[in-house]
Amino acid sequence: MQPVETPDAPALDELCAWLAERAAGLDASGHWPADQLAACGQAGVFRWFLDRQHGGYDWSDADVVRGYLKLSAACLTTTFIITQRSGACERIAGGASQTAKDQLLPDLASGDSFATVGISHLTTSRRHLGQPVMRARETPRGFVLDGYSAWVTGAMHAQSVVVGATLEDGRQILLALPADLAGVSAPPPPRLVALSSSHTGPLECAAVEVDREWLLAGPDENVMATARSRGTGGLQTSTLAIGLAGAALQWLEGQAAIRPDLASAAAQFRVEHDQISTDLLALAAGQAACSTESLRARANSLVLRSTQAALMAAKGAGFVEGHPTGRWVREALFFLVWSCPQPVAAANLCELAGLQD
Ligand SMILES: Cc1cc2nc3c(=O)[nH]c(=O)nc-3n(C[C@H](O)[C@H](O)[C@H](O)COP(=O)(O)OP(=O)(O)OC[C@H]3O[C@@H](n4cnc5c(N)ncnc54)[C@H](O)[C@@H]3O)c2cc1C
Repeated sequence: MQPVETPDAPALDELCAWLAERAAGLDASGHWPADQLAACGQAGVFRWFLDRQHGGYDWSDADVVRGYLKLSAACLTTTFIITQRSGACERIAGGASQTAKDQLLPDLASGDSFATVGISHLTTSRRHLGQPVMRARETPRGFVLDGYSAWVTGAMHAQSVVVGATLEDGRQILLALPADLAGVSAPPPPRLVALSSSHTGPLECAAVEVDREWLLAGPDENVMATARSRGTGGLQTSTLAIGLAGAALQWLEGQAAIRPDLASAAAQFRVEHDQISTDLLALAAGQAACSTESLRARANSLVLRSTQAALMAAKGAGFVEGHPTGRWVREALFFLVWSCPQPVAAANLCELAGLQD
């Protein structure tokens, strides 16, 4: 693979075509996309998210968005794994642990190792339970972790996991947890409605002693607010939804070119997709086009409707396993549950219930 040093590089289109050819097989197999991730590593994709000091290409937020739009239209599963991987890289690069930076970032930038995140229990997962699901106790050496993180993408493939935990006094910490420490385990991941190949499942910690040198952030009241990365509460989830909607729309437009009955729906979706892409890129460039939450609610709505429109156009043929439209419909459902803040969930629920004005 040629290096993809800018989002306009022809090498990115070649990489995307290669990924798209393998997306149906990946979905059917449920296997970890080792070849796809290796190809992305060779093409320098993991360097998009890191600054030059850490071996990266130092892409701007807008360039990362443009890159992700293309990748997610080609293979959502591989792209989603990359978001979790880059979330870990960014938190390590921006964190307080020099050990983590020195020991982990070179191999992460080149693609020779894999890291992921187990942080959603601090924001959107298991928040209604009486006590934190991942607990930490401070010791003279560092911290002892007990509990679990319910959703950790590629946990069984990771050399390190950026994990959040809550101390007895309610303050939170973020650690770059070495996955080979005694007491860390990742049970086999469940089969999912879509993206099973992301091998997302629980990460369990039983009396895991973690040296203080791996502390990335905290102790703090809200460690996710202070250790913010590109992905958190930001544009990444919307970007992938808009990318997937783009794949479905392109397919619909291909059909509309030979079936006039589809033309007006395809044209209307194109107007909506152009508008939301413009707003997304404006937000990524720092302009206040709309709120990130309203963009996410619109992106969720668009990806659900556009993938279903593509399936309608494909008719029964699209309902056969292996057809891209059926897969896109399942993949679109992911955006209803992935890192979905309460106001976004409320807006989508109102739309589903026909309550919007
Ligand atoms: C495929 C996939 C990959 C993911 N990858 C990652 C990752 O790599 N890293 C990461 O950190 N996170 C990841 N996530 C987590 C994701 O971002 C969300 O946090 C997660 O989907 C929230 O779902 P939950 O079941 O944990 O929510 P919960 O809120 O824990 O809901 C679970 C259940 O609890 C009950 N419940 C919920 N709220 C209440 C309430 N108020 N009162 C009573 N009962 C209630 C409901 O029955 C619900 O089904 C992933 C999620 C998925 C699906």
